[in-house]
Amino acid sequence: MKIICIGRNYAEHAKEMKSDVPTEPVYFMKPDTALLKEGDFYFPEFTKDLHHEIEIVLKISKAGKHIEEQFAHKYYDEIGLGIDFTARDIQTKCKEKGLPWEKAKAFDNAAPIGDFVKKETLGDLNNINFELKINGQSKQTGNSKDLIFSFDKVINYISQFVTLKTGDLIYTGTPEGVGPVKIGDQMEGFINGRSFLKLKVK
Ligand code: MG
Repeated sequence: MKIICIGRNYAEHAKEMKSDVPTEPVYFMKPDTALLKEGDFYFPEFTKDLHHEIEIVLKISKAGKHIEEQFAHKYYDEIGLGIDFTARDIQTKCKEKGLPWEKAKAFDNAAPIGDFVKKETLGDLNNINFELKINGQSKQTGNSKDLIFSFDKVINYISQFVTLKTGDLIYTGTPEGVGPVKIGDQMEGFINGRSFLKLKVK
């Protein structure tokens, strides 16, 4: 399986990163070794500025290529919550030099993933609230209505370049409020008020 992540998919996050709001989706990938399904997260030694990015995650349920936007909803059946961990200090250097982001984004355990539910149970998919708390304090809140590129548009776009396969995960982008985590932090993510993901930074 592969992990595909959308960058800058919320305008307020693009602003806080001092990036332009994109006119077409920006995506990158993480390898399967980035997935962290359970257990603790160990703070990597190569960064001094590890950032949290809470994101709604789609689980692909059917293989497809060149998927039309109007049929894209048939290609994912479950939705969950994940963290796109980012070594911001390394990413900044990569950006300055015009280099790829993998060192900052694709390292081991850089993609924690929580529970999934059938998408039907979430009601209106264009109105999903999600939130990240650290040590009980709210750090990021978002709503899928603020996506620049909808879930269906993202699937349509990516599948022009990459065949999507059953089990692939799409991290759909983070809202504003990204910031550093530190050893000892207890992270918890919520969708529509229900806890989906829990993680301790060690
Ligand atoms: Mg992200």
